[in-house]
Amino acid sequence: MTTNASATELADAWKRAHAVLPGGVNSPVRSFKSVGGDPFFVDRGEGAYLVDTQGTRYIDYIMSWGPHLLGHGHPVIDDALREQIGRGTSYGAPTLAEVEMAERLVRLVPGIEMVRLVNSGTEATMSALRVARGFTGRTRFLKFTGCYHGHADPFLVAAGSGVATLGLPNSPGVPEAAVRDTTLLPFNDLDRVRELFAAEGDDFAAIILEPVMGNAGMILPEPGFLEGLREVTEAHGALLIFDEVMTGFRLGLGGAQGRFGVTPDLTTLGKVIGAGLPVGAFGGRREIMSQVAPSGPIYQAGTLSGNPLATAAGNAQLAWLEANDPYDDLEALGTTLVEGLLSALRDAGMEASGVAMGSMFGVFLHPGPVRSFEEAKEADLERFGRFHRAMLQRGVFLAPSPFEAGFLSVRHGPEEIDHTVRAAREAAREVMDGTL
Ligand SMILES: *Cc1c(COP(=O)(O)O)cnc(C)c1O
Repeated sequence: MTTNASATELADAWKRAHAVLPGGVNSPVRSFKSVGGDPFFVDRGEGAYLVDTQGTRYIDYIMSWGPHLLGHGHPVIDDALREQIGRGTSYGAPTLAEVEMAERLVRLVPGIEMVRLVNSGTEATMSALRVARGFTGRTRFLKFTGCYHGHADPFLVAAGSGVATLGLPNSPGVPEAAVRDTTLLPFNDLDRVRELFAAEGDDFAAIILEPVMGNAGMILPEPGFLEGLREVTEAHGALLIFDEVMTGFRLGLGGAQGRFGVTPDLTTLGKVIGAGLPVGAFGGRREIMSQVAPSGPIYQAGTLSGNPLATAAGNAQLAWLEANDPYDDLEALGTTLVEGLLSALRDAGMEASGVAMGSMFGVFLHPGPVRSFEEAKEADLERFGRFHRAMLQRGVFLAPSPFEAGFLSVRHGPEEIDHTVRAAREAAREVMDGTL
């Protein structure tokens, strides 16, 4: 097949997709809207790689946006799924695999004493907020600009600009009433949280945040920030919710809370705990979680919750992680990758900063430090788009947005890192020469 023939085929397939799916995709981040060009269609995943329908292989740093810590098609997960498929896909009645998953989460995540399994991260965060409101009898909550907590109405408030400050909805269809009780502040600005809580803290049901931001690029909490939020919430009877849908089992077996030693009242999980099947979870202190139906009055339910395929895959991945604790090795690999990327970008004359922690990493085209979404938006976004395209041409699939973290798996190794850094040297030079 000639290159031209495959380019035409791809354009046709993309046209078909656009005719029947909004934007051609089922989730906005999959489109290449912010970097330009069209995405490829995936044929299969193999370890650290994706192979598209044209047979091109890419080193995959998205890993389904987090879930595949063991890479694509790991035998441990495939075997667990195969074994379950012969026994049915869903029952709507209790299974021991759900108990096993819950026991594992309770054992490993410091803030979880009881947990409820759901089907997505969105469901986990919207339910955690309901529980926080039900438990405290209050409605207001604080979130931080640039943190993503799924697409439930109360969380869909824009970062930045006057719209954000006024707490107006940034998506048509989100009624003003749904976000009236959402208050926004910049990440890492503890002074403003303290001021807000000194004046109005007793109205707040909760503070929710990604303890390490991964949805605005990767941004670490400054020393004392998480501890300060813990203090302020405790002093005012509000709950602290760590949204660890991304960081859970990515930064370590205990998530960000294990790493930073700050224990929230409620925790949300997703992504890694399902190993690529639809899943989520919310859990926390027993006193709070026992208010959830049917043991308490706060309603939450789901036909497919605790789905046997999801728990089979999730249990297999979590058991492997518990037995092998790969996080130090992954962090060393990520550090090598980020150092290589930064030196490639800087040698080509770009400003760049970045960080690696656990199995996550992030690079900004910004001199750093980047402490908030507001600062992340100062990065060179147009240049990132060109860099992304140049990397894709060299077989490296980075998230098609400057506001996303990168993900490693245990199937990534020195060979993939070397290839990526070499590609970045060429790509960065090409971008700066303006030949792209
Ligand atoms: C991905 C993500 C969500 C939403 O999870 P979905 O499964 O996509 O609904 C919520 N919070 C954080 C921090 C996430 O990264």
